[in-house]
Amino acid sequence: MTSIAIKPSDTMSTITKYAQHAPRYTSYPTALKFEPLDNDILRTAHVISKAPAVSLYVHIPFCKTLCYYCGCNKLVTRHNEKADEYLVYLEKEVLTKHYLAKGKQVVSLHLGGGSPSFLSETQHTTLMYILKKHFSFDANAEFSIELDPRNVTKSYLKHLKSLGYTRVSFGLQDTDYNVQSTINRVQSTSHIAELVFEARTLGFDSVNLDLIYGLPNQSIDTFKSTIAATKAMMPNRISLFSYAHLPERFAAQRKFSEATLPDSEEKAALYKLAVKSFTTVGYEMIGLDHFALSNDSLAIAKNEGELHRNFQGYTLRGDTDLVGIGVSAISTVGNAFAQNEKELKRYYARIEQQLPSATVGLSLSTDDLIRRDVISSLMCNLTVDKQVIASKYHIIFDEYFAEALENLLSLEEDGLVEVTQHHIKVPETARIYIRAICARFDAYLNVNEPVNSGVTNRYSKAI
Ligand code: SF4
Repeated sequence: MTSIAIKPSDTMSTITKYAQHAPRYTSYPTALKFEPLDNDILRTAHVISKAPAVSLYVHIPFCKTLCYYCGCNKLVTRHNEKADEYLVYLEKEVLTKHYLAKGKQVVSLHLGGGSPSFLSETQHTTLMYILKKHFSFDANAEFSIELDPRNVTKSYLKHLKSLGYTRVSFGLQDTDYNVQSTINRVQSTSHIAELVFEARTLGFDSVNLDLIYGLPNQSIDTFKSTIAATKAMMPNRISLFSYAHLPERFAAQRKFSEATLPDSEEKAALYKLAVKSFTTVGYEMIGLDHFALSNDSLAIAKNEGELHRNFQGYTLRGDTDLVGIGVSAISTVGNAFAQNEKELKRYYARIEQQLPSATVGLSLSTDDLIRRDVISSLMCNLTVDKQVIASKYHIIFDEYFAEALENLLSLEEDGLVEVTQHHIKVPETARIYIRAICARFDAYLNVNEPVNSGVTNRYSKAI
């Protein structure tokens, strides 16, 4: 069980000190570091990839309405027929990429967005037909999907189950009406509770609820209600995302006043409240911001040291190539990242012209791989075994990371990280600082840069 006793060092000044802008590290290097591509990077990476299996990610960019907090790549429209056109292009892209899974089984499929529940039942059937026609799926493959509960009915869930989906995730975000109306996402909590119940009755393996802390008008009192509603539904997993306020990048975030946002100290209090509330009723903490019931595969993987991180968050499979399909989707094949064109019309044009769908990406250097392992270990396990990294990459850890270790000193003095001869460990009480700690190992960031200046403020605040 996670303890969240507040250390003396966990003061407002400590929170403010480390509330710098920092990545969420779903990848290292982060997508903001991807560079324009002049070749089909995946084709080269595929040749040397040793991955025994493949994971698929399909991006559905459409949403019926705009949530003002949203930072996803999406397109708001009421025209459902746009998804018919999109599916035609998806199949064309699949035809250019299915060689990446040649001779391999697909062990997981994830649909994200946008909102995959924008698709009608018929469109979902078509999509599954396309995927099964061109890829070979493992009999035990996990099929997961993100759902906007406002577009989902019980019969819709039944249809998804019949197509083979095994995991569903609903965006609950916050149950308070005032918060919901400020972010333009008014939705019924009782409807979501009915959907969660129905998903269980239908036999889905797992139900996840997404929550967000740090939203406008959120307070400890309002968040207590959201937490209580979540606990009452008892999902298998909970994702507790930090609201990323980046109004320069996402215009809709300018629709509410910054004065209504909780500050870093209030945000930290919301986070701690959630951690305490969920871990005292049987949830295990997974990494920075996820919770899973102790019999859930994610919790089991965590306890066995088998947790990995990818663009969709935490995952059980770290040994697969990830093939991303659809506008803005990211692929990870071997040691290369490639992100598809992010603008829909240009994505369609590239497919028409038979150009690679990816426009930016990166081939990871040895330094990137070493740092990726360190950051991933911290994000998943809150610890790094220096010897494991040293042996794998033939380096002397303390020499290789001399600058990073020096940059960790102030965090060490504040009791937020412990550096010993053999390990770097983040105490449970300092979990909220993990992004700031990982940033010390990020070769692309200058952690000594003043807050709100330079490249780092393209990321959201770490707290
Ligand atoms: S939060 Fe989800 S449903 Fe809302 S606009 Fe963003 S992608 Fe669409």
